[in-house]
Amino acid sequence: MKGNLILLVDDSPLIVAMLSDLLINAGYEVISASDGVEAINKAYSEIPDVILLDVMMPKMNGYQVCRLLKNDEYMKYIPIIMFTTRDKPIEKFWGLHIGADEYVSKDIEAEKLLELISKYIDKLSEYKSLLKKKNRDITLTDILLKTNNILDNKLYELTIINRITNVAWKTKNFREVIINVLHILEEIFNYELGAFCLLDEGKLNIFISTKGNLDIKDIDLIDRFCRKQILSVGEMLKEDKSKTYILKSGDKDISLDEENLFAFNFKSGDTGIYRSLVFLDSQLSNITDSERNTYQLILEQALVVIENAYLYEKIRLRSVTDELTKLYNRRYFFVRVNEECERVTRYGGGWFSILILDIDHFKRVNDTYGHLAGDEVLREIAKILKTSARSTDVAARFGGEEFIMLLPETDLQGGAKFAERIRKKIEDHSFQYKDKIIPVTVSIGVASGGCKDNKTPDVIIGQADKALYKAKETGRNRVCIYDETT
Ligand code: GH3
Ligand code: MG
Ligand code: MG
Repeated sequence: MKGNLILLVDDSPLIVAMLSDLLINAGYEVISASDGVEAINKAYSEIPDVILLDVMMPKMNGYQVCRLLKNDEYMKYIPIIMFTTRDKPIEKFWGLHIGADEYVSKDIEAEKLLELISKYIDKLSEYKSLLKKKNRDITLTDILLKTNNILDNKLYELTIINRITNVAWKTKNFREVIINVLHILEEIFNYELGAFCLLDEGKLNIFISTKGNLDIKDIDLIDRFCRKQILSVGEMLKEDKSKTYILKSGDKDISLDEENLFAFNFKSGDTGIYRSLVFLDSQLSNITDSERNTYQLILEQALVVIENAYLYEKIRLRSVTDELTKLYNRRYFFVRVNEECERVTRYGGGWFSILILDIDHFKRVNDTYGHLAGDEVLREIAKILKTSARSTDVAARFGGEEFIMLLPETDLQGGAKFAERIRKKIEDHSFQYKDKIIPVTVSIGVASGGCKDNKTPDVIIGQADKALYKAKETGRNRVCIYDETT
């Protein structure tokens, strides 16, 4: 321990004298400084093993000294113990946030302080020789320049992080969040292609924003590159191909190859979601460590915002989705139908139709082919409804083997026509389970509502149900409309 050098920084001569005694008695060599500028000068010229640093001091305060030293590539290794009479939690937070190794109150017991110092003494030894070589005098201009650079850099990081975080405030829509965040990153890095990879439950999704005009080969290459990244960090992939979404593209000729793609990978956190950002930018391969740190910080923030939006979307979808068929559930259907009803009454829109569809003799399907076969039929019908519908239509599972659809801007005749198309499609479809073909038909009831009548959604749904009952009664495998006159 003998010979280890402590830099003691405090503007109170009394404290310097008291602590010097303590440290010298413990076998340390002590140098002191009474303000922040002197502290920096001595730190650079003497390379102490530990710095004891007061907070409130003339010229430069302890936080500023600490930040400056901790932002220096070499000096950052010197342990700093912030040392003050003021022990408000916010000050401790700030002290540790700017990189102080410890933050202790001045009334700490002598023994505890010595223990703390000796804990840090060992840590420096491996860097000491490196630091000695760099040992040099530092002028006030150097200090100013360094301080300004740090401030400038912090402001730069903060501005970008702020902009990225703001995206999350403006929209919760996952796709919009990615587009906006990638747009900000594009402004910063001026890359020709940015891709966000997200691995969740073994499935890889890639979202691409580019100035280029990508062809299938390019997309394959990005897919391969991303999968390689994922595998290289030991993650598992469940599917051979990822889902790729091109969010934005341009007409620029860009030359893609694995050599000029550059990835920032981020391990999955508690969510188990693995994220990585890939850029096409040759300059990224020769950035300095400090630039890399800044990028890392910005990208991490970007990923937090994107991942949050993703999780929000996932939870939202789960709460409105029927597990078996992946259609909307009954609860969400009622939300949508109420919205539609309000829309047509308030804005004087036209008509909308409601279809209720029930599988004929479904009990027999289960009894004959088994429950799993029945489930497969339900999934298959859901697919047919989804692919037959317009993007504004809403299809939901209403209950066991009943489905319901909302068709906006569709009157009763239009609804009946659509229902007949669906009925025919299902009758003609070959439902297969293992090697069995299962004949399936459905009955459909149709009713409609609009701006001129004051029917509530419940009433219209009730009418569609009555029409369905009629379809069952009159022989099944048919469409019936609700007729006001009956
Ligand atoms: P109908 O033509 O009168 O509608 O006859 P049905 O047999 O379809 O009607 P019923 O209401 O008697 O039977 C409905 C059957 O649907 C019984 C039930 O076990 C089955 N079912 C409900 N939900 C599910 C499900 O999630 N999976 C499977 N496999 N079957 C289901
Ligand atoms: Mg039924
Ligand atoms: Mg049925």
